[in-house]
Amino acid sequence: MLAGNRRFAEGNAEHPWQDRETRESLLERQTPDAAVLACADSRVPPEIVFDAGLGDLFTIRNAGEMVDDATLASLEYAVDKLHVSLIVVLGHEGCGAISMAIDALDELMGRAGKATEESVSAADGMEDLAERILQADSIILRQAGFSVWQAREAELENPDDYERVHIAHTIEELVTRSHIVQDALANDRLMIVGARYQLESGKVEVLSF
Ligand SMILES: [Zn+2]
Repeated sequence: MLAGNRRFAEGNAEHPWQDRETRESLLERQTPDAAVLACADSRVPPEIVFDAGLGDLFTIRNAGEMVDDATLASLEYAVDKLHVSLIVVLGHEGCGAISMAIDALDELMGRAGKATEESVSAADGMEDLAERILQADSIILRQAGFSVWQAREAELENPDDYERVHIAHTIEELVTRSHIVQDALANDRLMIVGARYQLESGKVEVLSF
């Protein structure tokens, strides 16, 4: 996948496995190497940025590469039935879902700040805030907003870092919520990798946690 991304970033994409023979060879079954949970952003299609073809990637996308029931069920299908050995959680530079999460979190903190001044201590206020984020109606706030909050708690203030923390948080969420994923990891049948696509260079940076 990294070799494919290198070709793409350098302008030498080969667009492999997109011909009629490949399509026909895949009629009976698919055996993708990897599942990718990526942002729905129109500038980040995994098959294009990894210069992949038909049958290569099992792809799940939504704004902010978040984990909901449908995401989980899709990834569990990929692990359990298609036996992918790799899940890539792919975020990216300039993610609109992270921007939305920052705005939603700032609004919530503004409201929480006022409430804290009126009543409880600051420490209680912080705990209360985490709880409020996790209980919010908006999934953007619950997941991407919580990631931004975690990043700020670690004294990170840069949206690039918010995106990286969000990718780590997404992996954590995925593992925590899925026994199928946990089993596959424990039995060395699966690896999960976090990656962040850079709009400007076209390169994917692999994150280590
Ligand atoms: Zn995005």
